[in-house]
Amino acid sequence: MKITFYGGVGEVGRSCALLESNEKNLLLDAGIKLGEKVEYPLIPDDVLEGISNIAVSHAHLDHSGFLPHIYARSPLRPEIFATKPTRDLMGVLLADYLKIQKIREQTPEFGESEVNELMQKIKLQEFGKQFSAGFGVTFLNAGHILGSAMTLVEDDGKKVLYSGDISMRNTRILEGAQRNVHADALMVESTYAGKEDVLPSARESMLRFVTSINETLREGGFVLVPSFAVGRAQEILLALEDYMRSGVLTKAPIYIDGMILKAMRIYRQNVIYASESIKMRILTSDDDPFKSKFFHVPRTRNREDVFKEPAIIITTSGMLLGGPALIYLERMCSDPKNKLIIVGYQAQGTLGRKILEGEKKVRLGDREIQLEMKVESIRISGHADRNELLHFIKGTRGLKKVFLVHGEKGGELREDLEKDYEVVVPRLLEEHDI
Ligand SMILES: [Zn+2]
Ligand SMILES: [Zn+2]
Repeated sequence: MKITFYGGVGEVGRSCALLESNEKNLLLDAGIKLGEKVEYPLIPDDVLEGISNIAVSHAHLDHSGFLPHIYARSPLRPEIFATKPTRDLMGVLLADYLKIQKIREQTPEFGESEVNELMQKIKLQEFGKQFSAGFGVTFLNAGHILGSAMTLVEDDGKKVLYSGDISMRNTRILEGAQRNVHADALMVESTYAGKEDVLPSARESMLRFVTSINETLREGGFVLVPSFAVGRAQEILLALEDYMRSGVLTKAPIYIDGMILKAMRIYRQNVIYASESIKMRILTSDDDPFKSKFFHVPRTRNREDVFKEPAIIITTSGMLLGGPALIYLERMCSDPKNKLIIVGYQAQGTLGRKILEGEKKVRLGDREIQLEMKVESIRISGHADRNELLHFIKGTRGLKKVFLVHGEKGGELREDLEKDYEVVVPRLLEEHDI
């Protein structure tokens, strides 16, 4: 088997690698990189037109956003394989990406028809059941967002495991990634591979988050939490619901805005893929945490109805690149009682990053605003941290070769692994044997 990396190496974004052997091929993810401009995998047209199968690890656009481009460019419509929650969540995220393309590009490469066609073509697969995608392929739980999968590929007695994005922690919604898988080669994400990337426990971060929100609510202020639509938002909402119900968090309306709401419905519809504890709670009682009485939806376009009494607002976009978050930010920024809590990764050049780095005068479109509100950063992560990555890699049975992908700091993990494995931090367009 050989593997070629077309994106998602030395960077977070546009994950895309091609596995080939004899006449068979399988593309592992087809993502884009969203920032000031959109970047695509560097896959040449002649290679792209020969792709027969694509396995999608999860719905996030850095793993699925390139699919409509492939359908627009290739006359051979490759088969696409994904779990059901991945397909359903992709429906929401690709529809949004289509909107962005229409706004940004004069002549978008794809339209509704490509999105609809590929959505209909996806072949749904269950966790733990092998299927044929050129190679023998099995999806295993990755613990990152609902439906997220690791992809285990078998060929000629050899096994390759692609982690996709992974989280080891049991959360309110998900069980951590499956461990101790048997594989000769492992292609593993390394978002938090850096030496300083040891994160506090999920519980610790959540308690800091709740304490910080309590402070603001008691002072009579509003809390704004920009979040990515799929994954973190649902974890945060269910955690807040839990703390509020038990009295640890001050009672206040929690407003949900932007695409988070649609993603929340899909989480609820696919709850069968969530952790045992949440399924039990829904099955054995009338109280459904996804439909909590604490959750509210804004009723007016300008969101003024939200500002009647101190409240918590969870909304897109996560890096303040657009979405309702900007409406709230403008409304809230001049009151020092209010607070902005940044929970996710903020890419270079984004408004979120600028605010995180201490800028107080920022541009919102054609206006300049002055930030008088409090700003806090509490990392609530959906990725394994450095120690968990090492643990995961070392737990993989029969492992000989490790590829560190999906991160800027793979090199910092290399020395901890080198004496036991052949370690590769691949570069774009590199081809390797497995
Ligand atoms: Zn992801
Ligand atoms: Zn990712």
